[in-house]
Amino acid sequence: MIDAHIHLDQYNHVLLKDMIDSWQNNGIEGVVAVASNLQSSYEILKLKQIFPNFVRAAIGHHPEGPPPSEKDLAELIDLVKKERRMLSGIGEIGLPTYRKKELLECYKEEDFVTVLEQLLSLAKHESLPVALHAVHEEAEKVLSLLKKWHIKKAHFHWLKASHEVVSEIVAHGFYVSVTPEVCYRERDQKLVGLIPVDQLLIETDGPWKHNGPFAARETSPLLLKEMSECLSNILTIPIDQLNAKITSNTNHLYNGGYL
Ligand SMILES: [Zn+2]
Repeated sequence: MIDAHIHLDQYNHVLLKDMIDSWQNNGIEGVVAVASNLQSSYEILKLKQIFPNFVRAAIGHHPEGPPPSEKDLAELIDLVKKERRMLSGIGEIGLPTYRKKELLECYKEEDFVTVLEQLLSLAKHESLPVALHAVHEEAEKVLSLLKKWHIKKAHFHWLKASHEVVSEIVAHGFYVSVTPEVCYRERDQKLVGLIPVDQLLIETDGPWKHNGPFAARETSPLLLKEMSECLSNILTIPIDQLNAKITSNTNHLYNGGYL
């Protein structure tokens, strides 16, 4: 099993080696580690060097915060080009939703769109998939930008969108991941029914804390096992077959970055 979206740089670096050992001993083959900003992108690249066979690195700038300065964005773009060989994707990128109102008091919506377009153009140029934060109303806007930039390889992480928009996303061949919420939230269980199993990924978005049966647990890729049990029940696909399929989907999308 591979965690298709985790903020690995936000875990305790001192404990990480032991944590990864225990994850691997429990059947976790790897993670797609996404960055939050320039500083975090450097940290993800460092983690890729320390755990080259376990970490797939995606670097980028998370949209639920101030947009990067021009200097930081230029440095991030240069970093992607310079470290292209180490990378499996560009992310986490997208448009703000949860902090949108507050962010628009200081920035213009087009500032976020401009940053996203520059990173999509880079992804196209470097032939890298994008790990997207594009939820609710923003999902449709990001989808139209993917079309504008002729992006073929994209992953909508923890997607929440209307039935129509989800259908359009999957019709374009893009991937969609579900989080531990799929075990306890009807909205996410319904979403699964809209995603062809060939385009389904699983993620924790760790260390983000989840609720339901996971309320008392730290979020780590160890939750993937229970998630795949829930998915196996929802989709009525035998668990081994489902895990093999989802792993192969993740390998297919995030296929670069092997040193
Ligand atoms: Zn995330």
